[in-house]
Amino acid sequence: MTHTGPDRTPRPTESVTDSLLIPLAVLRRRADPRRLDRTVVLEDLMVGGVSILDGRVEISLEAEARGADVVVSGSVVARWTGECRRCLETLDGRLDLMVNEVMAAAGSRTSDDDASDAYPLDGDDADLEPVVRDALLLALPISPLCDELCAGPDPERFPATGGPEDVGVTPGGDPRWAVLDVLRGDDGPDAG
Ligand SMILES: [Zn+2]
Repeated sequence: MTHTGPDRTPRPTESVTDSLLIPLAVLRRRADPRRLDRTVVLEDLMVGGVSILDGRVEISLEAEARGADVVVSGSVVARWTGECRRCLETLDGRLDLMVNEVMAAAGSRTSDDDASDAYPLDGDDADLEPVVRDALLLALPISPLCDELCAGPDPERFPATGGPEDVGVTPGGDPRWAVLDVLRGDDGPDAG
């Protein structure tokens, strides 16, 4: 019996749990910042119906040891995809973010205030993934529009703006409708 699962998801070659780790020993041994320029694939980069396309993220980051801390800075670029909240058309866009974060070793800080903004630095590696992940999740549009003026899926019948009476039914030859239009100020000068 053959078993070919239709839900077999193709695994990207750049699968990534560990490629955003930088050994702290390496960081602290060098005077120069350590650069990371690569494309990574991160899972679950999604807010509501908007997600990072294929989870692919281009990072160009520098990590530099400063005392007990590690400073991470650089750029994070990714494409997102989602639906227009009015017409449900598929949308996509691009995020090009600047990152500048501090990672601090737990317990190395005397002031709690300083540590509150910092990412925790645990174990033998600096893990840049939370920095990248947070930057993207905070920047994703929560309820995107294909256009500020998007009129919705069927503007003829369900206009996104104006009441249902405004739908353009213009029966010719019935003067009563024309009077109504004037009274509503639809196309005459606004009498206040
Ligand atoms: Zn739309």
